[in-house]
Amino acid sequence: MCVSWQERFADTPDVLASAACRQTVVDVLDLKIGAGECIAMAGPCSVETEFQLIATALHVRRSGARVLRGGAFKPRSSPYAFQGLGLEGLKLLARAREESGLAIVTEVLSECDVSLVAEYADILQIGARNMENYALLEAAARSGRPILLKRGLVATIADLLRSAQLILNFGNPNVMLCERGIRTFETAMRNTFDAAGIAVLKQVTHLPVIADPSHAAGRRDMVPALARIAVAAGADGLLIEVHPTPDEAWSDGEQSLDFAEFEAMMTALTPWMELRSLELERRETGIEAIEVLG
Ligand code: PEP
Ligand code: MN
Repeated sequence: MCVSWQERFADTPDVLASAACRQTVVDVLDLKIGAGECIAMAGPCSVETEFQLIATALHVRRSGARVLRGGAFKPRSSPYAFQGLGLEGLKLLARAREESGLAIVTEVLSECDVSLVAEYADILQIGARNMENYALLEAAARSGRPILLKRGLVATIADLLRSAQLILNFGNPNVMLCERGIRTFETAMRNTFDAAGIAVLKQVTHLPVIADPSHAAGRRDMVPALARIAVAAGADGLLIEVHPTPDEAWSDGEQSLDFAEFEAMMTALTPWMELRSLELERRETGIEAIEVLG
């Protein structure tokens, strides 16, 4: 018999699924993330202009997205790349929420900015490069906002769970785990999408699991395939980069879908979403049957 997940991840007991807590549901505006539906979160890598953001918000909503993503503070690999609009970007996000009704997820880079970002955002994103920035995790946790915690570029699942446990320890139960690709010896794509990691997280934790095929693939032609895999693996949500004119995007244009591509991807995902629901029902019935027997 192999070791139990409880033993394997013994130092992060509170993130593990148990009879007492099988699934955390994160409430964001009228959304219930983790309650069964796979929720699409979409939008540009960076907030650039009012037109870019509002047009994207309206289009992704029409195609079925429920959350608008967009970075106002950007962690960039190059110090010379666009660093984000800051407060002006946050204000544009708030305007886009008013216009579209979509909830807003945006990254917070530094603990100094947490209260400002929390004023405007519905969900705080902790980026891959900050997964182990404990001062930031503490400040974000204490803001009381739900947190989308991205897996670090070289973080194991145990590392990701440790950061999630820390947020819970600071009194914030509303954590969503995000698989966004990791660095391996494989270089064909920007990162290696750990689809097995999604399945493991779904099996082991009670926290909602979100997949980001855009940063995993690093190229737009692979995003729909990775999204399909994420849905099949049971992800509770997808985080997808969408831009009106990806080739002109100020950041991550290569991996951004245009409106038509996003709509086509969402339509193509429908049968996979249905299969995912059937699988969830089957699992629920199985667990209930075991509980009745046990
Ligand atoms: C992003 O979401 O645009 C981003 C910078 O993500 P990550 O932290 O996963 O690289
Ligand atoms: Mn990006």
